Amino acid sequence: MKILISNDDGYLAPGIVALANVLQAHAEITVVAPDSNRSGTSNALTLDRPLAVSRADNGFYVVNGTPTDCVHIALTAIMKEPPDLVVSGINQGQNMGDDTLYSGTVAAATEAYLFGIPAIAFSQEEKGWDQLDAAANIALAMIQRGFPSLPSPFLLNVNIPNRSEAAIAGFRATRLGKRHASEPVVKTQDPAGRVMYWIGPPGGAKDASAGTDFDAVAQGYVSVTPLQIDLSHHQQIARVALDLA
Ligand code: MN
Repeated sequence: MKILISNDDGYLAPGIVALANVLQAHAEITVVAPDSNRSGTSNALTLDRPLAVSRADNGFYVVNGTPTDCVHIALTAIMKEPPDLVVSGINQGQNMGDDTLYSGTVAAATEAYLFGIPAIAFSQEEKGWDQLDAAANIALAMIQRGFPSLPSPFLLNVNIPNRSEAAIAGFRATRLGKRHASEPVVKTQDPAGRVMYWIGPPGGAKDASAGTDFDAVAQGYVSVTPLQIDLSHHQQIARVALDLA
């Protein structure tokens, strides 16, 4: 099995190193990741400059671009044959609910999915890498078991509680919850006295009801949400047509 691994935290992040370490004994892996932390870049492609690919000492390919750039270049230039699976992560911190629209971790998987390749994005609930080895083993177990009931390609968003394997409650198939609006921006000053702004953290869970990713992870389960990319609001197409008539 050929697996392409990417992330948005950068090639030095413990999450991608753990994922590569656990998968390399079971698959032919290629790792292509950003040269720095590119979290929150969503599906951005770099179009205003060419991209450089270098090779780290551990064999990882390093791109001075976004997660989407990495997977795009991996699939179109670096890999001789398409992989059987693309995995992204393990991200430092959860990607649940609306996070999935901003996440570079999910975007790397999405890029593969758009190329027709099954893809899974992995994130840990809490930042700090606590229980990272357990999360990597859970990722391996999921990949080994596979998803034979799903048509190919599929796109899965996985969030893993920071718990030991023994303390994980199990697995839940979920839908995305929803968040409140983001926290306010953080106002600050640069050395020249200009007012500057940090984008604030995401809002708390607004819809964490039964069946959501938020609910599953809060109860100690690994949340697995199948995603699709069609943004069309199908129920409103006929109404728009009415207004256009
Ligand atoms: Mn990240």
